[in-house]
Amino acid sequence: MALEGKLLIGQQAVTGTRKDIQATNPATGESLEPVYVGGDRSHVEQACTLAWDAFDTYRETSLDARATFLETIADEIEAIGSELIERAMAESGLPQARLEGERGRTCGQLRLFASVVRAGEWLDVRIDPAMPERQPLPRADLRQRHIALGPVAVFGASNFPLAFSVAGGDTASALAAGCPVVVKGHSAHPGTSELVGRAIQKAVKACNLPEGVFSLLFGAGNEIGQALVTDPRIQAVGFTGSRSGGTALMRSAQDRPQPIPVYAEMSSINPVFLLPEALKANSQALGEAFVGSLNMGAGQFCTSPGLVIAVKGADLESFTQAAQKAVEASGAQTMLTPGIHSAYEKGVSALSGEANVREIARGQTGSGEYQCQTGLFATSASDFLASKVLQEEVFGASSLIIECQDMAEVKKVAEQLEGQLTATVHMNDADVETAKALVPTLERKAGRILANGWPTGVEVCHAMVHGGPYPSTSDSRTTSVGTAAIKRFLRPVCYQSLPEALLPEALKEANPLKVSRLVDGKREL
Ligand code: NAP
Repeated sequence: MALEGKLLIGQQAVTGTRKDIQATNPATGESLEPVYVGGDRSHVEQACTLAWDAFDTYRETSLDARATFLETIADEIEAIGSELIERAMAESGLPQARLEGERGRTCGQLRLFASVVRAGEWLDVRIDPAMPERQPLPRADLRQRHIALGPVAVFGASNFPLAFSVAGGDTASALAAGCPVVVKGHSAHPGTSELVGRAIQKAVKACNLPEGVFSLLFGAGNEIGQALVTDPRIQAVGFTGSRSGGTALMRSAQDRPQPIPVYAEMSSINPVFLLPEALKANSQALGEAFVGSLNMGAGQFCTSPGLVIAVKGADLESFTQAAQKAVEASGAQTMLTPGIHSAYEKGVSALSGEANVREIARGQTGSGEYQCQTGLFATSASDFLASKVLQEEVFGASSLIIECQDMAEVKKVAEQLEGQLTATVHMNDADVETAKALVPTLERKAGRILANGWPTGVEVCHAMVHGGPYPSTSDSRTTSVGTAAIKRFLRPVCYQSLPEALLPEALKEANPLKVSRLVDGKREL
């Protein structure tokens, strides 16, 4: 398919008016055609008008029609074939196998949400029948279901050009909830975004849906991103990116005459705790496996293990030596964008410039201009506790080992951590009591607690939580990965004493949708 470099507003392809956006191949430094002319506020206005016009129709599509739409998007993305993978490789520098896996995850995620929509559990139907005879007061007939919030603005992420971008988790869960979506594509991969955007456009048409169900805009965050978040028709925001970007969007959304929720996934350093007995038994293997996780995707994962915390001594030294060797053997990897590479370099030099931080090892240097040279550093718990800089995310393959005097100091470090997406504990049977003392703190700090694994690799399933207290996300009550992500874009409505003719299908007495319901407090399947 010939890329046109245009904004996709409903079924139209529109040329922008602002600054040109052109992707760079981070492996070669070459600029990639075509140029995407950035959109302006009038394009936001058009996309939001269409989205609002589509909302009432789209949110009341049948369960089957909406599920079929999600499946059609997945089919259309697959039908693009190798062109999608080739363009994503050129725009991101990510290897073919990773992007093929990401496409599988993206399409699998859309199909998983289709099954969730069909099952109808998300409606969360509750019925408390009238009790006219109740004393001292009668009870009215009360029925609850969930409805879609309204049009959602989605900001595509740089680090997952497929799975967290135009048709990624935010878009899939918002569409599943019945919300039209306006995406602000990430400027690092506009061609990949256009290909996926056109696949969604085709699915909208094939499923006879109103065109405003989906639009894709390109342009500057401070113009069209802000215009989207402050548009009165937008009712929620999904974002993955930097802490500063996500926090700015939270403020803009809060300052609106009608504030709206922002679901921003921002910054996490994913502490890994090595408990004494596990460390004693496995120090070398743990050191090697840790570097494997650190190097995944050049560390450009929100779940990359950026901190290792353990009691100092011979076992930690043995872990550190094994990790040192593995880091020294690590080849350089191309980073996603020149900007992300320069932020990584700055972050690593800020870390190594801190008093009392020792450089343990650096990976190999590469020949490419935007390659990440893995970094491993160490410091004492007391120095860590005294410094704010050491808690900042360095996006890329960099990690810091915190050497503690004893388990009490390990706990102190855990207590001082900011909110995290994950917290990992390496332990064996002899560490159970030690772990028990740590877990309550980790529950307060993180959205996912893992034992004897590595935080990279997030399963898309029903039980996943990819969320956590600020700054890992803007709202710790939700997840951006997994089927529970749909809840972000729904709200409950209670219908009191409405005649059957006015009740939505989900709440009618005969249960025509055949969904599970909580009737008078008892689950009916
Ligand atoms: P970013 O700078 O936060 O940008 C993400 C998106 O948000 C872009 O579309 C950007 O628009 C927009 N945006 C940023 N600030 C905004 C604002 N104040 N108002 C409106 N829109 C705004 O993230 P990035 O480009 O992906 O990467 C930069 C850094 O983010 C990385 O170095 C890394 O530190 C962090 N990051 C973290 C994660 C994570 O999962 N933890 C993932 C990706 C990136 P523009 O097109 O104008 O830039």
